Amino acid sequence: MSAKIIDGTKIAADIRGEVAADVSKFKAEHGIIPHLAVILVGEDPASKVYVRYKHKGAAEAGMISSDVTMASSTTQDELLAEVLRLGQDDGVHGILVQVPLPDHLDQYPAIEAINPLKDVDALHPFNVGLLSQGRQRFMSATPSGIQEMLVREGYDPAGKHVVVVGRSEIVGKPIAAILMQKQAGANATVTICHSRTADMPSITRQADILVAAIGQPRYITADMVKDGVVVIDVGVNRIEAPERKRGYRLVGDVDFDSVVEKAAAITPVPGGVGPMTIAMLLKNTLKAARLAVGDE
Ligand code: NDP
Repeated sequence: MSAKIIDGTKIAADIRGEVAADVSKFKAEHGIIPHLAVILVGEDPASKVYVRYKHKGAAEAGMISSDVTMASSTTQDELLAEVLRLGQDDGVHGILVQVPLPDHLDQYPAIEAINPLKDVDALHPFNVGLLSQGRQRFMSATPSGIQEMLVREGYDPAGKHVVVVGRSEIVGKPIAAILMQKQAGANATVTICHSRTADMPSITRQADILVAAIGQPRYITADMVKDGVVVIDVGVNRIEAPERKRGYRLVGDVDFDSVVEKAAAITPVPGGVGPMTIAMLLKNTLKAARLAVGDE
């Protein structure tokens, strides 16, 4: 069997189109353009690329997006002051602090300073808590993109055993929290694996749906999955590729070439989960603007 390839680029484009149409309706009804503000501290090149994509996506959806660029030498107090300022600015609906921050800055106080009604990355403890109670307002972009992909492609997680490999705050924990809820598009039985899990292959082989988010190139091999599994590969890893002009290429956490032969469906890297993240961030920004006018 060779798996169906889940086309994240296409699904994300559909979502971005839906968001653009909704933004246009929202503007007509309220005379307000949703505005996403991104705080970028320092010079991390990967962060700059992500931020550029976010702005491009926002512009295409008819939203305003702005950068608050801060020097690498920014102090914790200066960062907090900026986050608080944006939280009080009625013209800004969504705020995100791009991570990683420079080493001398602690991300948690910065995240806690975000106005929870503008927390489009859904990292504020208030929003994490609401999700855990199944009363979510925002869901973080990458995990909600994964749920959206599964549902839109007809792989309803209800009743399925979902094994999540990785327990980070931005992917592993929230995707587990989302898919275990007693809600449409969820109702899964969820197991989380991590670096201390004993005999992980015996667990991953039980997965009906496997979400790999570990940051280890091609770690999940064919012997670690069962026939007919649906595989969501979140990993984005650079490996050397001297034949390429830029000298590297991107691979996931899953050994695509072997797993594709056993799976029922699989997301590619690139072109799988990655494009969904920005689409869902835009959706959250529109939601934040709706919250601001009392629409939700
Ligand atoms: P983190 O480094 O924050 O977390 C990695 C997790 O994987 C940890 O929980 C760690 O366990 C676990 N882990 C690491 N190695 C192993 C192993 N050998 N066996 C079992 N578990 C392991 O990563 P992120 O969640 O931030 O990112 C994961 C991947 O997803 C990365 O490649 C990242 O680039 C990508 N990513 C992609 C996004 C997208 O939009 N496509 C968005 C976000 C991330 P422990 O907790 O025990 O240390």
